[in-house]
Amino acid sequence: MTPSNDIQIAAGPACPGCGTCMQQEHFENLTGGEVGVEICYPCCVIWFDSLESAQLAPGGVIELFKKIHVHRADVRHALPERMACPRCKQTLKLTNDIVKSGPVSYHRCVQNHGRLTSFFHFLREKEFVRNLTLRELSSIKERLAEVRCSGCGGPIDITQDTACGHCRAPLSVLDARAVEKTLEALAERKARGKDPVRIAVAMKEALLDDPARARARERRLAKAPDTDSWAQTTDLVLSGISAMVKAFRK
Ligand SMILES: [Zn+2]
Ligand SMILES: [Zn+2]
Ligand SMILES: [Zn+2]
Repeated sequence: MTPSNDIQIAAGPACPGCGTCMQQEHFENLTGGEVGVEICYPCCVIWFDSLESAQLAPGGVIELFKKIHVHRADVRHALPERMACPRCKQTLKLTNDIVKSGPVSYHRCVQNHGRLTSFFHFLREKEFVRNLTLRELSSIKERLAEVRCSGCGGPIDITQDTACGHCRAPLSVLDARAVEKTLEALAERKARGKDPVRIAVAMKEALLDDPARARARERRLAKAPDTDSWAQTTDLVLSGISAMVKAFRK
């Protein structure tokens, strides 16, 4: 049985990664309009129909964070080596770029139908993700031996490595300062009444978690392993997104 084919509903096109229907979502773009994108949450990828439509407005990126948070416990798929364009079925071409926050990659259609980007590389491109500092690394090592790669979902032994052995993505976190700046800009524009500084502080506290509190949480999880399997191995970028969204709601 192929479960991926059973849940095809009339939504978006098939995901190039796993073949299930992608979900159509709409976000604000840089010109004040809306951009429709297709997302596969289990594969953690976004399909943009054209290269230009990757220009989400900062508010659109915050909305994307909220959606990622909602789907945080979804089963995660690894992406296959070869993926086909959802429009023309030709093999997507792996494309590498360098941006301020480091190397980014995406898969694009050679016929220009669009591109497939992982959440991680999209956030890196938007400079919402940065490498882990040494201080953060030593704090995290006090409570975890392994984290999940934000790029491919594979395990990283943080006692040995500072990058993923599979996809080479460095240990990364959601940048609290970038989130704070974005929320500040949004608050000015829309008077949302959320305190960007408080949200950034909550994110930093979640990252530099108190070891005793973290151990207590791990003991809780060990007793009830199926309640939130996502939390058992930590993806630091997803943890940052969750900390942000939770602080946002308070
Ligand atoms: Zn997928
Ligand atoms: Zn195509
Ligand atoms: Zn990886």
